[in-house]
Amino acid sequence: MAAGTFRNALVFAAFCAAGLGITAALAENAPSHDDGVYGRHQTSAAGRDGSQDDASEDAEALRLAIPACAKDPDKLGISRVVEIDSTGGPVFGGSHVHNAFLKDREVVLTFDDGPMRTHTRRVLKALEDHCTRATFFMVGRMAVAEPAMVREVIAAGHTVGTHTYAHRNLKAIGLLKARSDFELGYSAVTKAAGQPIAPFFRFPYLSESRQVLDHLKKRNMASFFIDVDSKDFQTRDSNVVFKRIMSQLNVTGKGIILMHDIQPSTVGLIERLLDTLHDQGYKVVHIVPKTSEPTLAEFDVPAAQALAAKGGKAKQGSVSDRSITATMPDKDDPEPETASNAADHLPWAAKPAAKPRRAPKPSVQPQPEDLPWQTRSSPN
Ligand SMILES: [Zn+2]
Repeated sequence: MAAGTFRNALVFAAFCAAGLGITAALAENAPSHDDGVYGRHQTSAAGRDGSQDDASEDAEALRLAIPACAKDPDKLGISRVVEIDSTGGPVFGGSHVHNAFLKDREVVLTFDDGPMRTHTRRVLKALEDHCTRATFFMVGRMAVAEPAMVREVIAAGHTVGTHTYAHRNLKAIGLLKARSDFELGYSAVTKAAGQPIAPFFRFPYLSESRQVLDHLKKRNMASFFIDVDSKDFQTRDSNVVFKRIMSQLNVTGKGIILMHDIQPSTVGLIERLLDTLHDQGYKVVHIVPKTSEPTLAEFDVPAAQALAAKGGKAKQGSVSDRSITATMPDKDDPEPETASNAADHLPWAAKPAAKPRRAPKPSVQPQPEDLPWQTRSSPN
């Protein structure tokens, strides 16, 4: 895909969004851009090419529009849409305050590690009920397993970024392998989406490295760190996670919130969290990309192969298919994603349960317990 075609390619997504009830009444809903376009190389929104045709202008306007329902005082809604210029690989969130774009009591909702149909759909429902939008940093292997969910998230108006293919710790594996995990993830999610996605990236485990950041700069990929960490993987108790989020938020007063749309605790708290954010006067800022960035052909090929292979396997529906076969096996990978050792990813096979448990139903749907990074102390 050529760079800079994000708006044109979004025509389809925009029409899908319109079909989901997002208003096309743009004039009164279009956000003001007095906040500008964010990135290291800030450019004016007024600098857009004035020669776009009507369709692309409609798509562009819809992409930046705030849904009419977001103005309902009873809804959390969206306060602003911020367009992020990823040129030069800007870094946002956490200690990267030089790129801070949030005002007091503004939050960005982010969900990592999905999609996972059962859980992601419940998160989407809550977001829709509150007429608000989020950013999903998807793992390539999860997107390959659930390509329809990738499209569903985009069609609902949310932003989709990436989070590598196999959720490896990029700081620990060297630049060559890190580059591969990033690029394959970007290609895989893009292929699953069937359209350009946001050039937005989140490091697994929030484990950044200077070398990878330099690569992301060259690739014009914006990186997003966090200000509020739900640590929703540590417990299934939604109440604990809810209190953790709100207590951090009440200290920071604003920020990028990290949750996981594959975690039961987040599914259990999301409605309450959105209600509480609204009640306490927090505002949701929706981040969208200014432009798209191309995938690399050398990774598009294995990504397409993985997508095709998974599609075939899904029809078979065996337990061994719960783990996705990686297209780029690596002898140093501590968790090679092969069907032959899929049992290692299944908690009931890898370690004795504390008490007898019912055998799980065979399914091709990955579960949090199947994902090695979800059993670690810090699965961001
Ligand atoms: Zn993660």
